[in-house]
Amino acid sequence: MNSVSIIDRKKCFSCRSCVQICPKNAIDMHENSEGFFYPNINESKCVDCGLCLKHCPSFAPYEKNDFKKTSYAVWLKDDKKLFESSSGALFSAAAEKILKNGGVVFGAAYNADLFVEQICIEDINELYKMKGSKYVESTTNSTYSKVLAYLTNGKKVLYSGTPCQIAGLKKFLGKDYENLFTMDLICHGVPSERLFHKYLEWQSGQLGGKIIYCGFRDKDVGGCSCNGKIKTKTKTKTVLSALDPYYSSFIRCETYRESCYSCPYSSLERPGDITMGDFTEITEIIPGFDFSKGLSLFIIDTEKGLALFNLIKGSFNIIPLEFSQYISIKSNLQKPSERPAVRNFVYSGIEELSAMEFFKRFKEASRFYFIRFYSRKMLSKITPSFVKEIGKRIIRGKVR
Ligand SMILES: Cc1cc2nc3c(=O)[nH]c(=O)nc-3n(C[C@H](O)[C@H](O)[C@H](O)COP(=O)(O)OP(=O)(O)OC[C@H]3O[C@@H](n4cnc5c(N)ncnc54)[C@H](O)[C@@H]3O)c2cc1C
Ligand code: SF4
Ligand code: SF4
Ligand code: SF4
Repeated sequence: MNSVSIIDRKKCFSCRSCVQICPKNAIDMHENSEGFFYPNINESKCVDCGLCLKHCPSFAPYEKNDFKKTSYAVWLKDDKKLFESSSGALFSAAAEKILKNGGVVFGAAYNADLFVEQICIEDINELYKMKGSKYVESTTNSTYSKVLAYLTNGKKVLYSGTPCQIAGLKKFLGKDYENLFTMDLICHGVPSERLFHKYLEWQSGQLGGKIIYCGFRDKDVGGCSCNGKIKTKTKTKTVLSALDPYYSSFIRCETYRESCYSCPYSSLERPGDITMGDFTEITEIIPGFDFSKGLSLFIIDTEKGLALFNLIKGSFNIIPLEFSQYISIKSNLQKPSERPAVRNFVYSGIEELSAMEFFKRFKEASRFYFIRFYSRKMLSKITPSFVKEIGKRIIRGKVR
């Protein structure tokens, strides 16, 4: 067998490189009971050519480079645009630059039914669709083939996504293109779109109307933190991550695709030209730093990443960082998210139970974590800082 049928399902990222490369159209994606998609091979069409396997990022990882990476904490000087993005607005500044130079930009956006997909835009007025983190798996559809068509026509292309999506794109293309720029996210994992839609159904029941908006990082709800909003035509509800069943289980790493728990990109080896992430942890380096308007951790991974940064850096406030300053506090740059025991049954009943019944269990769990979270916060407030510092050092293994 020379096809991706040999790929361990726990290692498949659902990138769809195999689907798009197959010359016989022998692969399509099938949804499992949890709502995650996996390739399915039509054996009557497959000629065992091995192309899909060769272009699968899970089978043959992308090639590493020896570029000397640098990193920064950055935030856009333009407050209005900064407000529209989840963290420091690094993505939108890079996207604007590419679009203004006649290029195209690929990124994750909601479609009309609130499914998250990788889409392509050529018009700066459509950039708003991609702004904001959507904490659910986004579908790549046929975007890799579209990227190839643009690249061969000489267009500049910026593709942003999770590291496994960028790795999939690179494996699909099979070689580097000077006019391709990629941005990957520091990523701790993705829940399935079925879970997300079950959640929207649950919210719809709570609010008594169809959900038309779901934001996970709305800065008018507590600044640059994990809070958002849900809207129907007539109502708006604030969503506090610690109390919300979907959001809190996402933060606790309970609902991810299986590949996320052994993710090879939870490290400083990055498939993109630029890596971007949140950086609320900055207060551990600069105590009291106000990140409420938004702040990104930004790593330049390649020469092309450096070239892109040089084009946009004038628009940012910038603090240079050493890796040693943050590597121990950005856990998904060190290791994949841990798979908790509850992951074994968290999706059970998703097909049979009503949204109300299904999320009841989640709601009780989030209440418990809410109480734990705020007790810890209270404890932290009354504990002297030298005691906290010793505690942190013990946790990081610096004191034995
Ligand atoms: C699922 C997920 C998990 C993340 N986990 C972490 C983490 O553990 N630690 C951390 O520091 N940062 C994490 N981030 C990154 C962080 O939330 C911000 O997205 C990032 O810092 C970019 O912010 P920005 O202000 O530059 O971009 P914005 O202007 O807010 O643009 C959002 C960018 O994210 C992309 N995007 C949004 N949703 C998705 C999605 N579902 N799939 C693929 N791409 C998407 C868009 O295409 C766009 O490029 C995660 C993001 C996502 C989507
Ligand atoms: S081995 Fe070749 S023909 Fe068969 S599924 Fe893979 S790419 Fe398609
Ligand atoms: S990782 Fe991507 S290319 Fe490999 S089997 Fe999964 S969907 Fe196909
Ligand atoms: S954690 Fe890894 S495997 Fe999961 S979505 Fe993110 S990059 Fe892909």
